[in-house]
Amino acid sequence: MFDITALQKAITGINVETNPQIVRQKSRDFFWYSPVLKRQLEHVTANAIVTPKTEAEVAEVLAACFELEIPVTTRGSGTGNYGQAMPLAGGIVLNLAEMNAVKAIRNGSVIAEAGAIMADIDLATRAHSNQEIRLHPSTYRTATIGGFIAGGSGGVGSINWGGLRDPGNVIRTRVLTMEATPRVLDLTGDDLQRVSHAYGTNGIITEVEIPLSAAYDWIDVLVGFDTVLAAASFAQSLGLQDGILTKEIAAIAAPVPYDYFLRHQKFLKRETSVVVTMVAPHAMSAFEAFCQRSRAEILYRSDLASDEDLKSLPPAYELAWNHTTLRGLRVDPSITYLQTLYPHPDSLQHIAEMIDLFGDEVPLHTEVSRFNGNIISFGLPIVRFTTEERLAEIIALHEDHGVPVFNPHRYTLEEGGMKQSNPVQLSFKREADPKGLLNPGKMIAWEDPNYNFDSDKMYLFPGLDQN
Ligand SMILES: Cc1cc2nc3c(=O)[nH]c(=O)nc-3n(C[C@H](O)[C@H](O)[C@H](O)COP(=O)(O)OP(=O)(O)OC[C@H]3O[C@@H](n4cnc5c(N)ncnc54)[C@H](O)[C@@H]3O)c2cc1C
Repeated sequence: MFDITALQKAITGINVETNPQIVRQKSRDFFWYSPVLKRQLEHVTANAIVTPKTEAEVAEVLAACFELEIPVTTRGSGTGNYGQAMPLAGGIVLNLAEMNAVKAIRNGSVIAEAGAIMADIDLATRAHSNQEIRLHPSTYRTATIGGFIAGGSGGVGSINWGGLRDPGNVIRTRVLTMEATPRVLDLTGDDLQRVSHAYGTNGIITEVEIPLSAAYDWIDVLVGFDTVLAAASFAQSLGLQDGILTKEIAAIAAPVPYDYFLRHQKFLKRETSVVVTMVAPHAMSAFEAFCQRSRAEILYRSDLASDEDLKSLPPAYELAWNHTTLRGLRVDPSITYLQTLYPHPDSLQHIAEMIDLFGDEVPLHTEVSRFNGNIISFGLPIVRFTTEERLAEIIALHEDHGVPVFNPHRYTLEEGGMKQSNPVQLSFKREADPKGLLNPGKMIAWEDPNYNFDSDKMYLFPGLDQN
C-alpha cells in the first residue's frame, strides 16, 4: 500500500531492506512482555527497514517519506516493552543503529549520536576521563541513548538522580522534523519535554548531550531477608543513607530470586527475599555496618567473588528493573508484570498493603528511586497471569489503594503513562509532523482529540486493522 519502490528511487545510496523476514524481525520490540500486547501486535510489521548513516541521510529519508506519505517509526535497539517501536500503520522502520558515534567528551557531559549503545558511551567516557552516564536502563548493554530518551523513564542511577525527564538529566537533544524540508532543532531546558518520552511521535533525535558523573567500580551485592516486607523496608532505609553511595537498590520477593536468577541460585534459598544493590567501593565498610545494624545477611558480593563467578554471573543491574521480569519469562513464559509507584510519604505502607492483598499472585519487586526530592519505591511486580480480566482487576485494585499503575499492557503514550494528553508534545507534533506520519497510533490526543481518558476501555488504533 505504500510506494517503497518510489522511496528506494528517491533515496538512492541509503540502505533499504525489504526481505520480509528481516523486516519482520526489525519491526518487533519487547511488546510480547505483555500478553495483551502480544495478542494485539503479533502481526504488526513494517514494509521496509531504512538504515541511514548520517543526519543528512535521515533528513533525506524524512523528506522522501513526507512526499510519499509513508509512516516512519524510529528504532534504536527495539528493547521497548510497551510496544513503543512497533510500526502499527506499516511504512518504514527508521533504524538508527549505525548512527552511533561518541562525538565529544567534556568535564561533566558527553555528546553522542542517538544510535550509540549506552555501555559503549561509558567505555569511551571511562577511558577518556573516568566518567560514566548518571542514569541508564538495565538494557545498558544493548539499548541506545536515543531510544532511552524517547522511550524510557529511568533506571540504574535513579536512586541518585531521579527520572530521565527530571530537569538536568538530559542537556540537549538535536531533533529533525517531519516536513517537506526537515528542520534541525537543538532543544534545551524546558523544550526538551517536547520529545522526551514521546516515542518518536513528533521528531527524530539524531544527537544528544547528557550529563556524566565520576565513574566507580561498583560492587554488586545481594542481601537476604526472611520476609519481603523486611527486604522492601531495608531497601528504602538504605536509599535514605545520605553517605552510602549506591547506584541501584531493588527489593525482590521470594521465590522470584531463587526461581528466576538461575546463575545466582547457589547463593540463594527459595524462601529468601533479596535486595539487589550496587555499592561504591569506598562506601562498602559503611554499607557492611549498615547491614549488621539492620540484621541483614550479605549473600553475595562481587568484590569477594571467584574469577569463575565473575565470568559467569550477570551484573547486578541485569537482575533488576525489567530484567527481573525477563529472567522470569525465560523460566515461566506465562508470567507478566506491572509498573507501579508507591507514593511518598507512605511508600512502605502501600507496599505492605499490596503484599497482603495479592501474596504470591503478584510477587513484589521495588526499585528505590529519588522522586521530587524524596526517596520512594517504584514497583515492577511480577504478575502470575491468568486472564486479561483478572489482570485488569489487579490494576484496578492497585489504583483503588492509591498505587498508580503505568500500564505496560497498553501501546499508547497516554495509557502507558499519566492517562491524560500531554499538550506540550501534542502542540510540537502539530508543528513538527503536520501529516501525522511519525509512529502513528501511539499518541491518542493526535489520533482522536475527543477521546475520553476516563473510559475503562483500551484505545484501539484503527490503522492496526490495515497492517
Ligand atoms: C529487559 C529490559 C529491561 C529494561 N529496563 C529498563 C529500565 O531499566 N528503564 C527504562 O526506562 N526502560 C527499560 N526498558 C525499556 C527499554 O529498554 C528502554 O526504554 C531502552 O532505553 C529503549 O532503548 P532502545 O534503543 O531499545 O529503544 P527502542 O525500543 O528502539 O525505541 C524506544 C522508543 O523510542 C523511539 N525512538 C528510538 N530512537 C529514537 C530516536 N533517535 N528519535 C526518536 N525516537 C526514537 C522508538 O520509536 C520507540 O518509540 C527495559 C526493557 C527490557 C526489555
